[in-house]
Amino acid sequence: MASVYDRHVDLNQFMEGVKKRNPGQTEFIQAVQEVAQDIYEFIEDKEEYHEAQILRRIAEPDRVVSFRVCWEDDNHNIRVQRGFRIQNNNAIGPYKGGIRFHPSVNESVLKFLAFEQTFKNSLTGLPMGGGKGGANFNPRGKSDAEVMRFCQSFMTELYRHIGPDTDVPAGDIGVGGREIGYMFGQYKRITNRWEGVLTGKGQEYGGSQMRPEATGYGAVYFLQNMLKHKGEDVEGKTAVISGSGNVATHAAEMITKLGGKVLTLSDSGGFIHDPDGIDQEKIDWIKHLKNVKRGRISEYVDEFKSAEYHEDARPWSVKCDLALPCATQNELSADEAKALVDNGVQGVSEGANMPTTLEGVKVFHDAKIMYGPGKAANAGGVAVSGLEMSQNSERISWNHERLGEMLTDLMKGIHEKCVEYGDNGDGYVDYVKGANIAGFKKVADAMLAFGVV
Ligand code: NDP
Repeated sequence: MASVYDRHVDLNQFMEGVKKRNPGQTEFIQAVQEVAQDIYEFIEDKEEYHEAQILRRIAEPDRVVSFRVCWEDDNHNIRVQRGFRIQNNNAIGPYKGGIRFHPSVNESVLKFLAFEQTFKNSLTGLPMGGGKGGANFNPRGKSDAEVMRFCQSFMTELYRHIGPDTDVPAGDIGVGGREIGYMFGQYKRITNRWEGVLTGKGQEYGGSQMRPEATGYGAVYFLQNMLKHKGEDVEGKTAVISGSGNVATHAAEMITKLGGKVLTLSDSGGFIHDPDGIDQEKIDWIKHLKNVKRGRISEYVDEFKSAEYHEDARPWSVKCDLALPCATQNELSADEAKALVDNGVQGVSEGANMPTTLEGVKVFHDAKIMYGPGKAANAGGVAVSGLEMSQNSERISWNHERLGEMLTDLMKGIHEKCVEYGDNGDGYVDYVKGANIAGFKKVADAMLAFGVV
């Protein structure tokens, strides 16, 4: 009997379906739109992907786990938060992706992150599927004891959904070494198993060297590869960076090491502009401020008089050669992209996930700026997490130097894959298209091999 099911919906019909099935999930819809427009072009004449409804299946998470997290604050109030783990796709390896603790966390944000993670992990060439998790918990202003109680409560539910061959979470916004330690301790206590179930662990208990640096360094290596492709270099160039957390401070560190000058860093309160440059000594001071004192970036100007603090503002109006958004999603609008282009920016490398809006990305493309999207540019973090998994399984640890070389090679490989699928033939590389297609193809081909599952 002939089928009446239409396998060949066009992009608009496909996106209408995504919107209908995910009402109000704006971040997720934005992420799917960005990928689907490139994939549609790629699969146009490839019947097998249409037949198997691959894109439709990738845009539907394997599993969305949502749970209550109760904990007691220092004043003995009982607090209730919502925790999640999104297991998006495990076609090419165990689910892998960070845990985010931030008040803005909801299902849409985590679904977008898990979706993006699937392509990013595929691009690394390592066997990792895509996932993401978190809770609408704000660690800012909480005591260590409160953070510990929250992490323990969170893991008391999460542990049953994860495992070293099932799903291996890591850190993300609001989840650093302290939080990973508390969660790993609780997992070990509940299961009585020491296994590589989380990455980003402390070096004393199975963490990989180079993991803290990997995302920020990797984003700069990706930028370096883009520049090299055009016969350029980081040396002597000025850089504007947003954020002042793990990714931003390590991106700043590598720009400085390569002879560039970092002009800005920020947090959700505003940004600092230091025309003298934020050198290694100042970066070390910021790391201590953020990780130990848990202070705010505004305090920088009290310590370094050459700098100005701009409250409630983002740094994109500062003239620069290079821009690295390293804070959060949708932190760089079309107008801000225009300001960067008008000020002569040459390259943009995203340390954060989806920091540039769809309209902002269009501005960069129209101006033919070298633009490295997060799923390629910030993949160094998850790549070294993949190496942490390997080291844990083998019960070995590689040294800093070896891991540094592996990270450099991985970022070079990701850049090459993006060029393979994104070279427009006119000298311009569309890195978004390259990353989307290269990331998609491996996952899609694995899914085809499994049949209808
Ligand atoms: P951190 O928590 O260490 O730092 C986050 C930084 O971004 C802080 O300076 C924070 O400021 C700022 N920030 C957070 N939310 C906002 C907001 N709404 N507006 C302005 N600033 C904000 O996180 P990471 O450095 O780990 O993560 C940063 C980005 O990089 C995220 O997009 C994350 O998904 C991505 N990423 C991280 C990886 C990793 O290995 N850690 C791997 C790949 C991607 P404040 O203190 O005021 O909140």
